[in-house]
Amino acid sequence: MSGGSNAVAERSAGSMKVSGETFTCERCEVTAGWIAGSEHSGLPHGWAKERRKVHCLACRRDLAAEAVLKKVPEGTPASELPKLKASARVEFELDRDADRPDGEIAKACSTSIAAVRKARQKFGA
Ligand SMILES: [Zn+2]
Repeated sequence: MSGGSNAVAERSAGSMKVSGETFTCERCEVTAGWIAGSEHSGLPHGWAKERRKVHCLACRRDLAAEAVLKKVPEGTPASELPKLKASARVEFELDRDADRPDGEIAKACSTSIAAVRKARQKFGA
């Protein structure tokens, strides 16, 4: 028998309410924050604040890839660049959290598991 007194707090058409602080990525302008009542605070997972600029995880990964392009030696064939960017992304992810499975990192970086394994070897992670 359900007497209807099972008090499950049902808030009025509660769409996600974000508690106080929200963060906007400097680069892609995505906004994120924590759901009201969440015990989390501070930057969302994977985000970082560097030199007073806030970047989301996806942009941090892209920035890591772009940083590599600035360092490529002259004469590097353009066909090599996507590979360099991909490995920069993987290295970024390994640096962030090397404990994740290869498949997960590969997916996050849209690259192959083989590429992740190769980066792990190179990185010693
Ligand atoms: Zn972003």
